[in-house]
Amino acid sequence: MALPDFTLSAGPVAVTARTLAGLGKPLLYHYDPEFKATFERTQQKVAQIFKTRNDIVLMQGEAIVGLEGALRSLITPGMHVLNLVQGVFGKGTGYWISGFGAVLHEIEVGYDDAVTPAQVEAYLDEHPEIEMVCLVASETPSGTVTDVAAIGPMCRDRGILTYVDTVSGVLGMEWETDAWGLDLCVAGAQKCLGGPPGVALISVSQKAWDAMYANPLAPRDSYLSLIDWKEKWLGEGRFPYTPSVSDMNGLEAALDQALEEGIDEVVARHEAAAAVTRTGARAMGLELWAVREEIASACVTSIRLPDSIDNALVRDHARERYGVMLSHGQGAGNLIRLSHMGPTAGGMYSIVGLAALGRTLADLGMQVDVGAGLEAALAALAEQRR
Ligand SMILES: *Cc1c(COP(=O)(O)O)cnc(C)c1O
Repeated sequence: MALPDFTLSAGPVAVTARTLAGLGKPLLYHYDPEFKATFERTQQKVAQIFKTRNDIVLMQGEAIVGLEGALRSLITPGMHVLNLVQGVFGKGTGYWISGFGAVLHEIEVGYDDAVTPAQVEAYLDEHPEIEMVCLVASETPSGTVTDVAAIGPMCRDRGILTYVDTVSGVLGMEWETDAWGLDLCVAGAQKCLGGPPGVALISVSQKAWDAMYANPLAPRDSYLSLIDWKEKWLGEGRFPYTPSVSDMNGLEAALDQALEEGIDEVVARHEAAAAVTRTGARAMGLELWAVREEIASACVTSIRLPDSIDNALVRDHARERYGVMLSHGQGAGNLIRLSHMGPTAGGMYSIVGLAALGRTLADLGMQVDVGAGLEAALAALAEQRR
């Protein structure tokens, strides 16, 4: 099959020529001073986008390796953990929490909704035994966000650890690791940063390190070990295992581009693209998946589909007929996602995505006013650019 003309998926996303050039750099030995310097610089640049002075650990693998390794490191059997569930990644975190032997507490809402700070506050008031709160900042499969800015400080002020999946949060929403008191955050390179899949970007507070060191079950001498990275790499300049040299070069290139554009500017670009996309979708006659616009994420726009149309079929049709790769609901519900992430957040990408989606839905028998949607989206885009 031919390559798609446009990749508007929810990660991995299309990357810039600069990132591709980074990925194509000479493959150095990992103890070459040049590569060690690259790795150290990249850590510092990740700290900048996280807005943190905490340690940064860059683990090889996908964001999942960081999410799993960190959670295994933090959880001790019998510990009481509150997990916020509003989508498939939050649900999955809960399976890990109980699997690792903790006592699982959950606040769960529909996957088109968001857990509110008031719900969390009430739960914590009633359950002083909670030692850690786990949450997903941006539920990419359903395109909703959680109010981390309110929940983070609430936990910090009560001395409760926070474990945050911000794989698609960092750069796709306002982000303040230190100001919000977040202990353990994991982001992915292949989402809003527009980097290669294959590295987990992790920030670890002193409180989180203390919790890991106090945990006899925290992985050590293991691929999943954060403590290994702390002691070997951060402590002694020795890698626990060989990092993917190319991924690190690609990641640094993507970070350079984001930092040169400006962190606030990148976030604003995602928000602007989301606004254009939502305007177009509504004018086309489509229904947003998120029950309230305030909880709709800036990195993907999720559209609710009628029961008669299957989300995987929509994705496949748009790819085959129109050469545009979209993302389906990934188990979150019968929805289709137009992603505006990384380099595809902004400009005409939303128009392309709306055109391919609208026409696909019309082909599949849905009543859609594609023209009205595109007109409205173009008008919104023109207004933003005045
Ligand atoms: C992409 C993503 C991950 C990483 O999961 P994969 O299935 O490996 O892509 C984790 N959490 C969230 C919220 C994500 O968007």
